[in-house]
Amino acid sequence: MTDNTSFQSDKLQRFIFENAAIRGEWLHLTESWQAVLARRDYPARLQTVLGEMMGAVALLAATVKIKGRVVVQIKSEGPVKLAMVECTSDNTVRAFAQWDEDNAIDDNAKLTDLMAGGTMAITIEVEGAKQPYQGLVSLHEESIAATLETYFQQSEQLATRIWLVADQHHIAGLFLQQLPSEQQNKADEQEHWTRISHLASTITEQELLSLGAGTLLHRLFHEEKCRLFEPSAIAFACNCSRERVAETINLLGQEDATQLLNEQGKIEVACEFCNEHYYFDKIDVAQIFSENSISITESDTIH
Ligand SMILES: [Zn+2]
Repeated sequence: MTDNTSFQSDKLQRFIFENAAIRGEWLHLTESWQAVLARRDYPARLQTVLGEMMGAVALLAATVKIKGRVVVQIKSEGPVKLAMVECTSDNTVRAFAQWDEDNAIDDNAKLTDLMAGGTMAITIEVEGAKQPYQGLVSLHEESIAATLETYFQQSEQLATRIWLVADQHHIAGLFLQQLPSEQQNKADEQEHWTRISHLASTITEQELLSLGAGTLLHRLFHEEKCRLFEPSAIAFACNCSRERVAETINLLGQEDATQLLNEQGKIEVACEFCNEHYYFDKIDVAQIFSENSISITESDTIH
């Protein structure tokens, strides 16, 4: 096992055990996390939750082999109203949260107080598929990692352990999952899982944040046959665009759009993920609906 010397700071590395039907992932995010934090002044406690969610979605996306995107979203009645993170099959991530800015958020607030009554929705959108897959799991009072472990237990019936840690600089994660095995001897497989997940549970948050994949795996599993694969780079990206916002205004309908224009002089739409602001004045809005009417005319000529 060798450590990767690439200077890419944001990456995910898969690994497997050659002596057990167990797969794993190691994750580190720095620049993509800084890109999220630069866009909003999140309270410290919310930073850790949003960071853990961003780590969770990247680990989760790496387990599904699809072309499309994975979204993890929590809506709640608590001080944090909404948190949403996304990872695409092109390894881009984005994230944002909305919270009650009038009241201070306690640094030690429990997850289930911060996001009271919250449910985690996991959506897997495959490009070209009509219906996305969606799984729901109630928030575990301990952590995002514990919530995701419950999700895997319920949805795939695969024993899974997840460690996530986020601070204002980095996000780090470790994932272990028992795979369905051809092995006749289930007792052996169970023993491997118990031993390896126990070894992993000795990890400290500091080790997870500071060590490279090779060093960390060697420290945890030096007596196992562990094979580490090449890293995949992960980066922040937002796919919002003026065209997409125009589509939204089109869906709003001409009457409501005109009313907004009359009230505000222009329509302003901000992307929640990247905080890019899009402005549409009278002429822009007229153009959206005139394009719309042209397409109707064109389709009419077919008949
Ligand atoms: Zn955006």
